[in-house]
Amino acid sequence: MENKFDEQYGLEVKDLFERLFPICRSITGNGVRQTLSILKKITDFKIEEIPSGTECYDWTVPKEWNIIDAYVEDSTGKKVIDFKKNNLHLVNYSIPIDEILSFQDLEKHLFTLPDLPDAIPYRTTYYKEDWGFCLTYEQFKYLNKNEKYHVKIDSSLKPGNLTYGEYVINGNSGKEFLISTYCCHPSLANDNLSGPILWTYLLKELKSKKLHHSYRFIIVPETIGAIAYLSKNEKEMQKITGGFILTCTAGPGKVYDYKQTFLGDHLVDQTVAKIFKNNETSFTLYPFDINGSDETHYSAPYFRIPMGTICRKKYYEYDYYHTSLDNLDFINPKNLIETLNLHLQIIDELENYLPNDINKNSKSIAKQNNEDCYLSLNPYCEPMLSKRGLYPTLGGSIKQKAYDFEKEHLDRNYVLNSEISHSGSEIDAIGWLMFYGDGNTSLDTISVKSGLSKSLLEKTSQKLLNYKLLQIKKGDK
Ligand code: ZN
Repeated sequence: MENKFDEQYGLEVKDLFERLFPICRSITGNGVRQTLSILKKITDFKIEEIPSGTECYDWTVPKEWNIIDAYVEDSTGKKVIDFKKNNLHLVNYSIPIDEILSFQDLEKHLFTLPDLPDAIPYRTTYYKEDWGFCLTYEQFKYLNKNEKYHVKIDSSLKPGNLTYGEYVINGNSGKEFLISTYCCHPSLANDNLSGPILWTYLLKELKSKKLHHSYRFIIVPETIGAIAYLSKNEKEMQKITGGFILTCTAGPGKVYDYKQTFLGDHLVDQTVAKIFKNNETSFTLYPFDINGSDETHYSAPYFRIPMGTICRKKYYEYDYYHTSLDNLDFINPKNLIETLNLHLQIIDELENYLPNDINKNSKSIAKQNNEDCYLSLNPYCEPMLSKRGLYPTLGGSIKQKAYDFEKEHLDRNYVLNSEISHSGSEIDAIGWLMFYGDGNTSLDTISVKSGLSKSLLEKTSQKLLNYKLLQIKKGDK
């Protein structure tokens, strides 16, 4: 495939990775503002803010978090864990603290990955006021069990804003596509600094073209940003034909990964398959899964925007995912430029479709009214499960659990709740049931799509009926 931007962009992209990588981003705060203002210099877009406390469907924009410094020092004043060396050392959204603690008390707030002993894990605590540090297992082994440690986190958590960016390129076909990425990860290169960088260059390239369709570019903090955006732009978002999530775009290797839209055979999926075939590009196909990024919200029953995701090493699928080893050595700016060219080819192909062709090619879920189905009472996005005690409050660890020193087992990240067991499969069942709470999809179909047993889905749906998240829709039979 032709790489006409290699020379023009290669060094520029590398330089941008280096400038943005050290910034401590989060779902709110100055890290996001600084990142967006650097990207805006490459190509202009609008930066907007939504105040803390704003209700967005089932969610609320949280207080704004900012961080100055954080460390753990021993009694000689030596910093044994230092945020300034790597911002992943601090659990993102940690509350301020300044205390002397025994090793045993400190240990309850430490996270490591014994299977990847040189890696610092990435953890967050957005929706529970808590604190913690992440460190390599090698570092952890050298901590002294008889030592008293001074723990200092100089952070602030106050009413402020959630910051995001957007730009709409207006065509005249009456059809609009969505290009979305997330800007909330701190020093992590493939997932997901590569997303915002690709987003910016794709926007810049498309602005220079004469386009028939419209393209809505949004750059938001993951989950809460996408939900806040949907809630603020409900009417416009309902009309969107389909789109792409940009994430993990610069990982190593020649092979691409493609996560299908929830329809699997939408125009977006067909176009991606066609371009891969024309280019003779090898790729690994991932069917839609409710676990992932913001496609789950954009494709929620009320909006149903089919979103595809093309990756160079998809999140969850590489060992360094959500660790300090997903760094600038892991990615390659040249691969990002190849991924950029691929998206430009796909958009060129979408441009060939007339509005009527698009209507014909946009398939929708078949109705199955003979069976009992469920109707989501929160159809706009994934429901906020942690406020109901239905979800782990420590984020970043899905598919990769931190080791629990205290209990010596692997499920520390799940908050105990007498009513709900926090097995991964039950959380999955909740997600799939809510996603297919469109009143048209039977439990049999959900079982096939999710790979979960019908008995687990039945049991979980009873809980969701009790929590008033679902309501039953009787079939004709
Ligand atoms: Zn991530």
